[in-house]
Amino acid sequence: MALHALRAFVGDLAALVDAHPGEAALLEHGARALRALINVDDWLPDAYAQPSAERYQQYLLYADARQRFSVVSFVWGPGQQTPVHDHTVWGMVGVLRGAELAAPFRIGPDGRPEPAGDEVRLDAGHVDLVSPAIGDIHRVRNAFDDQVSISIHVYGANIGAVRRSTYPLDGPPKPFISGYSNTTLPNLWDLSKELPL
Ligand code: FE
Repeated sequence: MALHALRAFVGDLAALVDAHPGEAALLEHGARALRALINVDDWLPDAYAQPSAERYQQYLLYADARQRFSVVSFVWGPGQQTPVHDHTVWGMVGVLRGAELAAPFRIGPDGRPEPAGDEVRLDAGHVDLVSPAIGDIHRVRNAFDDQVSISIHVYGANIGAVRRSTYPLDGPPKPFISGYSNTTLPNLWDLSKELPL
């Protein structure tokens, strides 16, 4: 288990956020770090890679002590998808395993969501970006109806606790707070196996 890859990533993210770059620079450098993390698929503990037949799973892997960012593994069962939803903060979506389809939306003049571009396929190793500045509303789904896909998401907040909205196609926006699927987190901090005595 190469959890040190995740530990190094959250350290890089903390340093990046500490440096207070503008959002564009933060997303550029953050996406580079995320691509490096998802380029090697040997570090995600199995406990945070388990699908559920009920719905897609959102496992918190790490939350910054000041809730400036969080890292979440999304595990998509065959055919599973999100509703159309927003984030209200910057976000990076990197596919670790399988593939996803991400469809951008905007709010039309009638207050209902409408497509804002073509659905994009994200294969393993690819990173997609969202934020209120660059487009914050989308629907994401597993590209496969016969296999699990997993993506690693990074957000500019403790995303499971953020008040945000889903956008039904046939009604007004609905407030939601996503929460997380897990109650315990991976232990990134036991260095005893890695440190020489
Ligand atoms: Fe999303």
